[in-house]
Amino acid sequence: MAHRLSQKGRHIVTTQIEHDAVLHPCHALEREGFEVAYVAPQRDGRVPVEAVEAALRPDTILVSVMHANNEMGTLQLIESIGALCRERGIIFHCDACQTVGHLPIDVKTLNVDLLTLSAHKFYGAKGAGALYIRRSVRLDALIDGGTQQKSRRAGTENVPAIAALGAASVAAMRALKNGQETHVQALRERLISGIETGVEGAYLNGHRSERVPGIANFSFDGVEGEGVILELDARGGFCCSTGSACAAGSLDPSPVLLAIGLPNGLARAGTRFSLGRGNTEAEVDALLQLLPRVVQSLRQLSPEARAANATMNAE
Ligand SMILES: *Cc1c(COP(=O)(O)O)cnc(C)c1O
Repeated sequence: MAHRLSQKGRHIVTTQIEHDAVLHPCHALEREGFEVAYVAPQRDGRVPVEAVEAALRPDTILVSVMHANNEMGTLQLIESIGALCRERGIIFHCDACQTVGHLPIDVKTLNVDLLTLSAHKFYGAKGAGALYIRRSVRLDALIDGGTQQKSRRAGTENVPAIAALGAASVAAMRALKNGQETHVQALRERLISGIETGVEGAYLNGHRSERVPGIANFSFDGVEGEGVILELDARGGFCCSTGSACAAGSLDPSPVLLAIGLPNGLARAGTRFSLGRGNTEAEVDALLQLLPRVVQSLRQLSPEARAANATMNAE
């Protein structure tokens, strides 16, 4: 899209909390001479519509804002940001990888020109995604080659994975109707209130209610997220994550949690709990049993805890 519109302008607006799938192409465009504004979220994880508006310029050609953040699960104000872009004739892309299949999506009410989704985020097979393109929008192909998909994306299609994406979409629509995501959301609420009452020094990251059904992200004061996930796995077989799965193995503080204004320590403490349709109340309760003990034992190991112990002993 940027290449297609580069005669019109070379300014792009996005946010600080996008997935690398958006941030890295933006960095690449910057190296080509485009200018990119990275709008900051507020403490609740939401990017204010006014801040997006303030970043727009007469030469802004493209705005890209994610529907829900993959670390915190916070929903963004896509409808309003889309309306703003539509008014000014700016192309609006939304990365909806976290919401498609989990919430009802209507590209018309969202006011998007482009929307991306990925099959494996809603029980499809890995390796297929889709780009929705509004009828009047034209863009340049990223891959040159054969004339497949009306020359928009060259190369022979991965038919099995694409068919699986279609089947997963149908199943997701059925699951939404059957209230399966409501079940996931109820589990999430059980988890959030259980952690808030059962674990001292636990802070929920992101907006309290405006979040995708299956994600809760907490920082535990004085402990590293990496320690929490290793202990939960070793002692209970729970698979949780610190930041994004795509940044696994990194011990750096989460850029997303830094962007919402958490201090370094709490940004390193971020722990993401993801729930799916197959999870049960019993599993959530087992996690709630184990978690306070895990956090407690990690706190006793932390340098701060050791220093506090030493002071007490000296006294
Ligand atoms: C997973 C994810 C992506 C990347 O999709 P892949 O198909 O896994 O590369 C992009 N954006 C968000 C918000 C995601 O959660």
